[in-house]
Amino acid sequence: MNKNILVTRSSMPDFDEYIDEIRELWDTHWLTNMGVKHQELERELKAYLGVPGLQLFTNGHMALEMLLQVMKLEGEVITTPFTFASTTHAIVRNGLTPVFCDIREDDYTIDADKIESLITDKTSAIVPVHVYGNVCEVEKLRDIADRYGLKLIYDAAHCFGVKYKDNGVANFGDASMLSFHATKVFNTIEGGAVCFNNEALRDELYFVKNFGIVDELHVKTVGGNAKMNEFAAAMGICNLRHVDAEIAKRKIVYERYMERLDGVPGLKLPVTQPFVKKNYAYFPVVFDPEVFGESRDRVYDRLLAEGIHARKYFYPLTSAFECYEGHFDPKDTPVALKISESVLTLPLYSDLALEDVDGICEVILRRA
Ligand SMILES: *Cc1c(COP(=O)(O)O)cnc(C)c1O
Repeated sequence: MNKNILVTRSSMPDFDEYIDEIRELWDTHWLTNMGVKHQELERELKAYLGVPGLQLFTNGHMALEMLLQVMKLEGEVITTPFTFASTTHAIVRNGLTPVFCDIREDDYTIDADKIESLITDKTSAIVPVHVYGNVCEVEKLRDIADRYGLKLIYDAAHCFGVKYKDNGVANFGDASMLSFHATKVFNTIEGGAVCFNNEALRDELYFVKNFGIVDELHVKTVGGNAKMNEFAAAMGICNLRHVDAEIAKRKIVYERYMERLDGVPGLKLPVTQPFVKKNYAYFPVVFDPEVFGESRDRVYDRLLAEGIHARKYFYPLTSAFECYEGHFDPKDTPVALKISESVLTLPLYSDLALEDVDGICEVILRRA
């Protein structure tokens, strides 16, 4: 193949649709600080996601970092190392200690059966990740959190529009963070949200993203600045109109990969989870070099030589980052370590041509 294919391509509305959406901002000159677009997007997302409460943020990371802050956690937080840097950094930047739990072989989410042995009297929360849009074992996790009196906070960055038993996935746990980054299924260029069902969180989140300011005379918390601006919100309003069509197109691409790669010895393809309505965010493939005949790294290099940019998501484990050197041992989570060394996420976006999917699969299967 001789064209450049990136792992993802941001969804955008038609230029004119966006221009129409932002035109009134030139009348009001109200560009940020919870303006009309912010309010409208918040309302529409609540309806779309089926969540009782939602606060918008400038990005997913700040949403998670500030959510952990208002939850007033202390000590240790049990989480997964098989994730994007953001999850672990948000914990550490709150002065908390991440305790890494291993993941499940089949869907790569945190292994609920291994959590209890990690709980100490310092544990205050569990922060699992619905990685690749795969839904965690939400019932088991709720049960553990309740029995030990722990907060349960989900990184649902990959999960926009995913449902479990007909319930929007952001409804599980005490709260969930969503990311609307340009590379995600739904984007506001940069953006994010916290979804919650506890009304008390609404004000806390609202204040913390605006310096803790309650009114002109009262500053209640040591907040920061993580407000979503009107241009980002307007992008979200436009993209939300098309997101179902985008997900439907992703499904076609995803199914083509399944068709081409299913049954190939040595390849592990994404699982289908019972009761889950997917959003087709990612297509992770795990390579068993013994059986497939080639390592993940080798396949990655061959794809790159053809202009195809797959990603080694999530490698390295966050517990192996150099900024955490000496603090954690990636070997404590052997399943996560093995998966991180053998997984490749293939290009997947709504208008990836099926011929390109076929071409990518041919390169993979050609072997060296
Ligand atoms: C994208 C992502 C985030 C952070 O979201 P941003 O909007 O980019 O700040 C957090 N966690 C995971 C798992 C992600 O993939």
